[in-house]
Amino acid sequence: QPVTTDMETLTKEIEKFARNKKVQIETLKGREEYRKEFMGNVSHELKTPLFTVQGYLETLLDGAMEDKNIRKKYLTRATKGVDRLIYIVNDLDMISKLEVGNLVLHREVFDIVEVVQSVFDMVEMKAAKKNIVLTFDTKYEPVYVNADKERIQQCIVNLVVNSIKYGKEDGTTEVSIENLVKNKVIVRVTDNGEGIENKNIARLFERFYRVDKSGNRKEGGSGLGLSIVKHIVEAHDEKIYVESVFGVGSEFSFTLEKAEETIKVNTKA
Ligand code: ADP
Repeated sequence: QPVTTDMETLTKEIEKFARNKKVQIETLKGREEYRKEFMGNVSHELKTPLFTVQGYLETLLDGAMEDKNIRKKYLTRATKGVDRLIYIVNDLDMISKLEVGNLVLHREVFDIVEVVQSVFDMVEMKAAKKNIVLTFDTKYEPVYVNADKERIQQCIVNLVVNSIKYGKEDGTTEVSIENLVKNKVIVRVTDNGEGIENKNIARLFERFYRVDKSGNRKEGGSGLGLSIVKHIVEAHDEKIYVESVFGVGSEFSFTLEKAEETIKVNTKA
């Protein structure tokens, strides 16, 4: 670089250098804050199920073990706590892979209709407990897309499970797939559940963000589900949308790339 002797230019250079340094330091501070907040959230989320498991096991050891019925009940509850821990750790694992950018997409051509049906099979019991009807608006013709099948399945699971969790008793969850522009489809998951207030919509996709922050909220969850969906959809260079009316219901949707006619594979032939 040429050496400047001009005082004015030199001052500008120094100021610019200082500004950049300041930005660098602030970015680092921001990251450090973020890291601290993240760690705080993680340990908080892990503590609740851990203490639950500990509580039941200690009570059993203190004598509750003698009673056959109590023993079974407490062991069942402890197992539920462990299930929840596994669930959170799996979500964390997924989030860290997504954030570090290590998520390798395994794109393939598959029938999205079939995936939605398999998700319905998985959540059937959960829906039945709240008497929620699952409907799928399709003519049962295959719709081929080009995406990472397993990850997209996870997105649909997360959205459908949410619509059941935050849905009303005797409500409905509807999935539909529609053609968008020529090479895109949109997958919609609609419920007539509790809905989300406008002021909360912007933060929904943040890690650990939950509208109901109370410790005694009735629905379990990590607050990671939607941020995972967003990451996966964006890793595919696709878009995710949410529309919700408080007290009326919500609709989450995302786009996918349609597979070329020529590479359609009819596995049912
Ligand atoms: P989790 O369900 O584990 O709390 P998510 O990231 O999946 O985490 O969702 C974040 C929050 O968004 C939920 O806690 C809930 O408040 C709200 N939410 C998500 N889906 C719905 C829905 N279908 N209806 C109403 N609220 C929802």
